[in-house]
Amino acid sequence: MTEEIAPRDAYARMITAEVADVTDAGVVLDRTVFYSRGGGQPGDTGVLRWDGGMVEVVDTYRVAGVPTHAIEGTPPPVGTAVEAEIDWQRRHLLMRTHTALHVLSAIIWRDFDAKVTGGNMEPGAARMDFELDSISVEFGRNVEERLNAELAKDHPITVLFLPRSEALADPDLIRTKVNLLPSTIDPVRIIEIGDIDKQADGGTHVRSTGEVGTVHVVKTESKGKGNKRMRIEL
Ligand SMILES: [Zn+2]
Repeated sequence: MTEEIAPRDAYARMITAEVADVTDAGVVLDRTVFYSRGGGQPGDTGVLRWDGGMVEVVDTYRVAGVPTHAIEGTPPPVGTAVEAEIDWQRRHLLMRTHTALHVLSAIIWRDFDAKVTGGNMEPGAARMDFELDSISVEFGRNVEERLNAELAKDHPITVLFLPRSEALADPDLIRTKVNLLPSTIDPVRIIEIGDIDKQADGGTHVRSTGEVGTVHVVKTESKGKGNKRMRIEL
């Protein structure tokens, strides 16, 4: 069992750990600050350093649920004490991007009654698809203004761990499909953004929306009936 730090402390950049396993897929640590790819957020990159060696981590993902650090080079042997450090610049940009997407989805729901149908992000850029009947450049500008106005209010962002039964009783969480989470997940991790958004989420977020900065809606496009796409950049 790897102790994962990122779900409780997204700002932890480095940790000392021990190599628990080395597989074809990569290095498993007894604890890690690296985020494993999931929920649309890419896995962390960074470095493992130890007495006499160093390798770059090029991705982090789960293999049968186990956080695994994909590396380039020769792995440290099992039992080695390592310093595991994420590429913080990239991760922090992903945190800002992820939070921007949550605020975007909240605005589209609150002001235009449309749910999210999909999305993806990379550092500083993302797309999100909505159940909208139509989309236009003007609509994109309108949403961009609303989004930046909401971000500028500097809403605090809170990580909560709610008992599953409580999460299932919350209409906001049901809207964002908390009921579709595997029944083994209890408690459920929730990201709450001020009074504007609350959803079950595994990703890493900034502390308040002011930290996101300014977001631009760079493209709007139709992906078919009831499916409209918006691309944003930070
Ligand atoms: Zn999310």
